[in-house]
Formats: sequence, C-alpha cells, structure tokens
Amino acid sequence: MRFAMGSYETIVVGGGPAGLTAGIHLGWHDRRVLVIDRRSGPLFFTLTNLWNVPGQPEVRGIDLQGRLRAQAEALGVEIIRANVISVSGEEGDFVLAGEKGQEWHARTLLLATGVARYHPTVDGDYRPCFKYAGKGNLFYCPDCEAPEIRGKSTLVIGAGTANAAAGMAIGLSRYGDDIRVLLTGDRELSDERRARLSAKEIAVVEGEISELVGDRQKLQAVKLKDGTLLEAEAFFVSSPAKGRTDLAEQLGVEIASTGTHAQPRSQRGDTNVPGVWVAGDLRPMTQQVAVAMGTGNIAAVMIDQHLRRADVAGP
Ligand SMILES: Cc1cc2nc3c(=O)[nH]c(=O)nc-3n(C[C@H](O)[C@H](O)[C@H](O)COP(=O)(O)OP(=O)(O)OC[C@H]3O[C@@H](n4cnc5c(N)ncnc54)[C@H](O)[C@@H]3O)c2cc1C
Repeated sequence: MRFAMGSYETIVVGGGPAGLTAGIHLGWHDRRVLVIDRRSGPLFFTLTNLWNVPGQPEVRGIDLQGRLRAQAEALGVEIIRANVISVSGEEGDFVLAGEKGQEWHARTLLLATGVARYHPTVDGDYRPCFKYAGKGNLFYCPDCEAPEIRGKSTLVIGAGTANAAAGMAIGLSRYGDDIRVLLTGDRELSDERRARLSAKEIAVVEGEISELVGDRQKLQAVKLKDGTLLEAEAFFVSSPAKGRTDLAEQLGVEIASTGTHAQPRSQRGDTNVPGVWVAGDLRPMTQQVAVAMGTGNIAAVMIDQHLRRADVAGP
C-alpha cells in the first residue's frame, strides 16, 4: 500500500457514536487519526434520557456525545468540525475535500455518516419537529424508544407509507393499549393492515398537520388542517430513514438492495472498495447507539490490524 506524505493513517467521516468509538480504538493504538464531523447527528440534540446504552443508564444523548469526544481527544484523536463534500483516490491515498476548500489525505477511510430522518411536515415545513424530537415525548425508533410509551396514550404519526405507520402502531400495541394512527401523506392501507388495526382497536385518522401544540419541549397535541385536535401523552413518528450514502457512492461502495444504506462486505464493516470501512447507522441495520459503537469498534479493530499488516509487510 503506497501512501501520501503527511496523510492520516485513517480519516473517519462522521463524529457520532460510531465514528468516535472508532477514533477511540485507533487513538489508543497511536494511529494518526482525524475525525471530521459537521455535527448534525441526533445525539447533539437529544436531551431526553437514553435507557438502553450498556453501562450508561439514563444518559442524555448530548452528554454521551461529549464523553465520547473527550475520551477520543484524550487519546490524541484530532476532531474537527467540517463538511466533507467529496472523496476520491484509492487505498494509500484517499483525498477528501471540504466545502470550504480544505483537503485531507488518508491511507484508509471509515465512513460513519449516519442517516437522514424524515420528519412529519407542518404546513410543508419539517423544522417544527426539531423543537420536540429527542427532547421529550416525540419518538422515532421502536427499537430504542417503544418502552417509553408504557401506560401512555400514543399517537403514531405516519409520514411515510400508510402500511409502515400501521405496522408501527400494531407493533407498539405490545407496550400500550391506547394507540391511534394519523396518516399525513400516503393513505393506502392494505386490507390486511386495516383488519389488524381494527382487531387491535387502533383508530385511523387522516389529515395534514397545521400545528404542533406543546409546552416547552413536550408535545401535547397535533392540530390538523380541518381543526381536529389529536391529544396524546406520547407521539411516535413512522417515516423513512435514509443513510447518508453520498460519499460511499462516490467511492463506489456497494449500496444495499433497499437503496438506502451502504453495504459492508462482512460484519467487520469492510466494503467492496479496498481501504474503505463503514459503521453505524450508515450500515443496513437498526439505528441504535450500542450498535453504532459496536460496528465502529469492530471497523476500527480491523483497520488497525490492516494497517499493522501493511506495516509488517513493508513498503
Ligand atoms: C430522536 C432520536 C432519539 C434516539 N434515541 C435513541 C435511544 O434512546 N437509544 C439508542 O440506542 N439510540 C437512539 N437513537 C439512535 C441513535 O442516535 C443513532 O443510532 C446513533 O446516533 C447512530 O450513530 P452514528 O455514529 O452511526 O451516526 P450519527 O450519530 O448520525 O452521526 C453521524 C455524524 O456524521 C456527520 N456527517 C454526515 N455526513 C457528513 C459529511 N459529509 N461530512 C462531515 N460530517 C458528516 C453528521 O453530522 C453526524 O454528526 C435516537 C435517534 C433519534 C433521532
């Protein structure tokens, strides 16, 4: 593997739990590593407690993010805030370009760029959800947050397909028996889903949202354009989440058959492109902090071993 002078041994794009966990392992092994992050990951904004991060009970996302960063920096990892807009080259000398004209070089790459989530829109604008997402009672991921609705009246807000929203509501009925579904866009429910909703006494409402009614960061009701007010104690959004695959695609990394995530070649996070690994939500699996950390860690171990093998082999 040839490599450019002054280059990093590894550049990690994405400084969420996957990228920072990878940085921690590589930093511990004295690798020259740079983490580039534009700080739009969910944990930067998550003020509610996360209950399922092993060893870290009741941790707030924002605090976890800060701890990971501090640990990585203490191990010598360089972390910068920047937006990577393009990547080219090959193993030994990948070239990354930032939106402000920066250029970085690396022997190996880890892409941990996460997913983009779709929020329900309020008069066509998705931004009103930011006030509540990750801050109170507006949830997105049943794997992480379904137990939060125990004993609470819950409104599932469908912002993707109607069948997906119905599936989420039916799945959530394990945790609560007062659930309704609001279909804001697609309304085409299959007969099978309609029958299952009816059997579980889950009412379906259709309509576009005109207002999110809340007190500080707690959502209290969703107001529809026809004036209907749907109150609930908890709200769950059903919407697509698409991996930020742009850089992976530029490098020719294989994309999963769903078209939404970067496909690793094995559970180690290696890809079809030599020298490129993927980790975290960018991979096709559930979105969860512990999974992001685990996949970030395994990728970093593999990268370190790969670099060591190249070092042992010599120039
Ligand atoms: C509201 C909400 C609540 C959640 N609650 C829980 C929970 O309770 N428990 C749980 O386990 N999980 C929870 N999750 C999921 C968890 O946050 C994610 O699974 C986890 O953050 C994924 O980590 P990641 O490192 O793969 O990606 P991310 O955390 O998304 O980090 C990716 C980073 O890459 C950066 N990036 C992307 N592209 C570029 C680029 N081109 N240049 C530079 N930087 C770039 C982004 O800005 C971002 O900071 C929740 C998610 C949300 C949205």
